[in-house]
Amino acid sequence: MCEVQETMPRPRRPRGGQGCSRCGGRAQYLIRDLLFCRPCFTKHIHHRLGRTINGPLAGSSRPNITSRPPPQTGGALIALSGGAGSTALLDFLVERRYLGPQATERVPAVWAQAFAVHVVFPGQSVGGLKELAESRGITYLQVRAEDVFDSSLADKVAGLVQGIPSEDNEDNAARLSALVASLPLPSRPTILGHILDAVLATVASALPVSHLILGETATREAQRVITGTAQGRGFSLPLDLVTLSSRALGEVGASGEVGALGASGVMRLRGARELSVKEAALYCHAKGLETFNYRQWGRKSIEGLTERFVATLSTRHPATVGAITRTAGKLQFTGQEGEGQEGPLCPLCRRPADPGIKEWQARASLTVLPGHPSTTKEEGALESLLCYGCAAALKGRKDAEMPPFVAAEVRRRVPESEMRAAIADYFV
Ligand SMILES: [Zn+2]
Ligand SMILES: [Zn+2]
Repeated sequence: MCEVQETMPRPRRPRGGQGCSRCGGRAQYLIRDLLFCRPCFTKHIHHRLGRTINGPLAGSSRPNITSRPPPQTGGALIALSGGAGSTALLDFLVERRYLGPQATERVPAVWAQAFAVHVVFPGQSVGGLKELAESRGITYLQVRAEDVFDSSLADKVAGLVQGIPSEDNEDNAARLSALVASLPLPSRPTILGHILDAVLATVASALPVSHLILGETATREAQRVITGTAQGRGFSLPLDLVTLSSRALGEVGASGEVGALGASGVMRLRGARELSVKEAALYCHAKGLETFNYRQWGRKSIEGLTERFVATLSTRHPATVGAITRTAGKLQFTGQEGEGQEGPLCPLCRRPADPGIKEWQARASLTVLPGHPSTTKEEGALESLLCYGCAAALKGRKDAEMPPFVAAEVRRRVPESEMRAAIADYFV
């Protein structure tokens, strides 16, 4: 293997002094062996972003068209992380007048209303995201990760839109840090990822939007594929890799009920999935946009290791990311047709739960010694409903309160009579 790598030809680089491959002007950017001047480079990125976004939208006549999609039924919510992917995507949507504030009579908006949301994790600073969104006429909302414990988050979001500031809740902050502390170190990024998912879903369901637009790049997607495979998420992984999906958008409403797949009618659109993180970062550089990358996976997590692995491999073999995403693109969801709508969901990640998990757990529970149950019966109710990946991530956790969306799904899946019977021993 090493020998093969040693003898592989290094990527061909154009010689210096050559001009832009499109117009012959002064070249400034090198992408996939092609040189671009600044205007041709931004045009090239716009073309690729447009192709990703336009094809799957409602009313587009054929897939992958480069023409503009017709106006959509609701607004757009852009998940703004501050990274290059979401910043580039936001700039594209504004420049190409896809959003209401930039629309004109001749060029109607694809999404009449536009919102941007940033989820703040403990210990992060936000930088100029508010300014980035509001200077472009987009309503900016800032939500805290610990709000996942707030069952009235949807009402809070509605208040934020009307300009009512939300107050810090120290109890919820303590709950989140207790939950994170209760988990083994390598599982923490996984759980925080699911919490981010749940918060975004709740914010989307509280707003008049039809699309939640995510700025995940191809590089991130390649990392997700390898991480997901290593964590045993192969069953639901194909559902995470489509451009437009109705996956797991439920709200953590006051009633505690979690909506089924796509119940709130909001679709997830992964608009930047064909750009590598380097291309997105170069685009932000070309447009003078400041980006932030706060994500700090622990050194000992699969996420952290995968990120470094893909980054290291990409420097020697630039086709790495493309090869991983193209291979993963061929994966097919093997669950039943329509399972996403009615089938069982994992309470934590809200992806379809692998139907074979119970038999696997029965065979694999050799580590539990007779007379020494590793979990209480209440916890057992949750554990038996988790997908394989989440069950593995939560293995060895200490007792801590789970966010309400997890408990709500457990209640939905386990009939009350069964739950009572399971915990009957604990009633005095
Ligand atoms: Zn040019
Ligand atoms: Zn799961």
